[in-house]
Amino acid sequence: MHSPHPSTAAKSPRELAGKSAIITGSTSGIGLGIAQALAEAGLNVMLNGFGEPGEIERIRAGIEQEFGVTAAYSGADMTRPTEIAAMVEDAIRAFGQVDVLVNNAGIQHVEPVETFPPEKWDAILAINLSAAFHGIRAVLGGMKERRWGRIINMASTHGLVASPYKSAYVAAKHGIIGLTKTVALEAAEFGVTVNAICPAYVLTSLVEKQIPDTAKARGISEDEVVRTVLLAAQPTRRFVTVEQVSALALFLCTDAAASITGASLPIDGGWTAQ
Ligand code: NAD
Repeated sequence: MHSPHPSTAAKSPRELAGKSAIITGSTSGIGLGIAQALAEAGLNVMLNGFGEPGEIERIRAGIEQEFGVTAAYSGADMTRPTEIAAMVEDAIRAFGQVDVLVNNAGIQHVEPVETFPPEKWDAILAINLSAAFHGIRAVLGGMKERRWGRIINMASTHGLVASPYKSAYVAAKHGIIGLTKTVALEAAEFGVTVNAICPAYVLTSLVEKQIPDTAKARGISEDEVVRTVLLAAQPTRRFVTVEQVSALALFLCTDAAASITGASLPIDGGWTAQ
């Protein structure tokens, strides 16, 4: 068992050690960053998401080894409510309880609304919005009973403002902000906070994959997509980093953040200030 890296251990709050978290969509990108940040703070983590089994096992075992916590994995498909419920049961079996739920799994599809495939609409709404509802309803009762819990929903700048050709994603992300506010009110007196994080562009596979489709939808080159579409609205002209989003998620889990609930927190390089 290795102790956390000395240079980062000081920054990681120990008040959360021994708690447990489910992070959906944590086999890559932002979700993986959040899982690592929570594990570094001493939480046991349930990973979830798709990918090559050997690679997922490498990630899971790596977290256990690096941070000295228990890391489990559920392959639950976020389009399937019964698999989401089973994932929560697995986490309770492994850790005794679920203290933190990070609803992070998400997909994107970029296409004008007239030709937007209905099956893509359904999948985006299921993974980016309904999965959070199913996860929340499975964990909230226990959190309320224990009078402590943290629910973090990964929204987006697109939960606050729209961009063309992203009808399903923008609808789902606006929806998850509504869900966040509602559950925050229901949980407020029980020591359970519910917040949405709204990042602008983070260079993960989700963003890399939409560059060719955006180029096609707008009739411009892929380089122009990065310059004139992705970073055009980000006054910093820099991608937000996975580490920055993970640090905010970790902060929301601490007692210092106990009065932050029902909030939709932009981490967007100034995008929504315009
Ligand atoms: P990513 O593609 O790197 O990761 C997505 C994760 O979700 C992966 O682990 C994937 O396996 C998992 N996933 C996809 N479909 C699933 C399903 N049906 N069941 C279970 N898991 C599934 O993307 P990312 O950029 O890290 O995105 C994570 C979240 O952050 C998403 O909700 C996304 O909308 C949001 N977000 C991303 C950005 C960005 O610029 N990257 C900006 C704002 C918000």
